[in-house]
Amino acid sequence: MDTEILVIGAGAAGLSAALNAAPRRVLLLAPEGPEASSTELAKGGIAAPVGQGDSVALHAADTLRAADHSGSESMTDAIIGAAVEAIDFLERAGMRFDACGDGPGPDLHLEAGHSMPRVLHADGDRTGAAIQKALFAQAGASAHITVCRDLHAIALHGGSDGVTGITALRNGGPTVVIHAAETVLATGGVGQLFAATTNPRHAAGDGLAMALGARADVAGLEFVQFHPTALQCGLDPLPLLTEALRGAGARLTANGVRFMRNVDPRGDLAPRDIVARAVWEEQHRGHAVLLDATAIFGSERRHGFPAALAACVVQGLDPAHAPVPVTCAAHFHMGGIVITAEGRTSLPGLWAAGEAAFTGLHGANRLASNSLLEAVVIGAAAGKALRAQKLRARTRNAHAAVHQAAPLDPGRIEWRRLRELMWTVMGPVRSGPDLAAALGILRGARRRLDAADIILRQRHALAEAMIAAALAREESRGAHWRSDFAVRNRRLDGAGALRATHAA
Ligand SMILES: Cc1cc2nc3c(=O)[nH]c(=O)nc-3n(C[C@H](O)[C@H](O)[C@H](O)COP(=O)(O)OP(=O)(O)OC[C@H]3O[C@@H](n4cnc5c(N)ncnc54)[C@H](O)[C@@H]3O)c2cc1C
Repeated sequence: MDTEILVIGAGAAGLSAALNAAPRRVLLLAPEGPEASSTELAKGGIAAPVGQGDSVALHAADTLRAADHSGSESMTDAIIGAAVEAIDFLERAGMRFDACGDGPGPDLHLEAGHSMPRVLHADGDRTGAAIQKALFAQAGASAHITVCRDLHAIALHGGSDGVTGITALRNGGPTVVIHAAETVLATGGVGQLFAATTNPRHAAGDGLAMALGARADVAGLEFVQFHPTALQCGLDPLPLLTEALRGAGARLTANGVRFMRNVDPRGDLAPRDIVARAVWEEQHRGHAVLLDATAIFGSERRHGFPAALAACVVQGLDPAHAPVPVTCAAHFHMGGIVITAEGRTSLPGLWAAGEAAFTGLHGANRLASNSLLEAVVIGAAAGKALRAQKLRARTRNAHAAVHQAAPLDPGRIEWRRLRELMWTVMGPVRSGPDLAAALGILRGARRRLDAADIILRQRHALAEAMIAAALAREESRGAHWRSDFAVRNRRLDGAGALRATHAA
C-alpha cells in the first residue's frame, strides 16, 4: 500500500490530524472501528477557558500547578491558547456541547484542580463518545481520507535518517507493507500494560514502543496517572466511577473506616494521586475498598450519573442500597514521544499527537479534562502543518518490512505476566529494589520470546524503558511515588528535567 500521509490511530488526535490534512491523501488506521479508543470512553469533558472571567493565563496557571513543577510553560500557553479554536473545530465537525439552562453559551463544569468552571460536556457524561462520533463521521465523509479498519501497526520502517512507512498485521492474517511520505502516530496511551486499567484494549503503548525502537526522543515515561475509583469487577478495561461522585458526597471506606480522613485534610476530595495511593495502600493491607454512594443513587441525584449507575447494574450491584467495590487503576500516561507544538518528532517523516506524545503540558500530573484538549489541538496543528509543507519523497524501503509476525492472543501467559508485574511494581507506590528486580525479570522474558512475537517484544521493551525511568527518578513527584524517596527533589524542578532524567 502507498499513501502520502499515514495516520495510525483514530481517536481525537488521529481524526483531528487526518481531517486537517486535506486535501493531502490520508490513509487512517482504525483497527476495530470507531469505538476502540480512549476518546470513546472519556466520560467527563474537555477543558477550555471560555467562561466569563476566565482566561488562557488562569487555565495555564492551574495546569502548571497540577504538573508539580514539571510542566512546560511555553507548550501550556500554546495548547491552551488554541483551545477556543479547537472547540470551534469540533463544533464545525458537528459536535453539540451541552448548553447552559439559563443563558447563552455552554454549560461549564468545575472539576478538581480547576479554579473555575471550564469543562464542556456533551450528552451529559458521554463527551468523549460525542467527539469520537462527530469526527469519525466527518472522516468517513471526507474524500481525502481512506479509513482502514483491519490493520494493526507493528513496526516502523527507517530510523534517524527518516521514517518511510510501517509494517501492519491484517486481522490475524498476513503482514502488509505501507509506504508513506509522512507517518503520524496517534495510538493513545499505555494503560493496558497494567493488569488494572480503565484504558481500552488497543491502549498498550504500541506507537510509543515503535518510536522507542526507531530511537525517537521520548520523555516522562515513568509518569502514569492512576484513577482512584474504577469499579472492581472482572471486566477489562475496568469501568470508571467518576470522581464527581465523591464531589457529590460519596465516601471511600475500608474495613468500615473512612480512611481518607486520616490521609489528607481534604479527605475524599484530596487530589487524584493522593487518593489513588491511599486506596492502593488499603488494598495492600488486605482491605477491600468500597465506595459508598448510596445517598446519591438512592435519590434523584442518580440521574446525574447514568454511566456509573449502568456500570454497577451490569455487574448486578445496586449502588442505592450498598457500597460498591472499587480499585485504583492505570488511567493516563503523561509521558510519550517528544514533539513540537506541530506534532513533529525528532525523526524526519515521523509525527505524533495525543496521549502517545509528550508535549510537556501535563508535566508530572495531568489536570482533569486537559487531555482531550491536547489531543485535538496537537492533532489539528499536525494536520495543518502536513497540509502546508512539501511532502518528503516516498522511498520503497521494503527490506525494512517485518515478514514474520503473529497476532497477540490477549490470554497469552507471557502477556498476562507482564501486565501483573507492571501493576505490582509500577503502580501508585514504587520502590527501587522492586523496580530493579522487575527489570531483570522482563529482560529475561523478552530474550525468550520468538522473533514473530514482535508485538509482545515491543511491549516488553516499552515496559522495561518505563521501569528504568522510574528507577532512575529517585524522588516522588506528581503521579510518580517512590516509597524509598518519598519527597520531591527540588533540583529536578522544571520541564527539561523530565527529559534529562529519562536520558540518564
Ligand atoms: C475511561 C476514560 C475516561 C477519560 N475521561 C477523560 C475526560 O473526561 N477528559 C479528558 O480530557 N480525558 C479523558 N480521558 C483521557 C482521554 O480520553 C485520552 O487521553 C484521549 O482520548 C487520547 O486520545 P488519542 O487520540 O491520543 O488516543 P485514543 O483515543 O486512545 O485513540 C487511539 C487510536 O489508536 C489506535 N491504535 C492503537 N494501537 C494501534 C496500532 N498498533 N495500530 C493501529 N492503530 C492503533 C486505537 O485503536 C485508536 O483508534 C479518559 C480516558 C479514559 C480511558
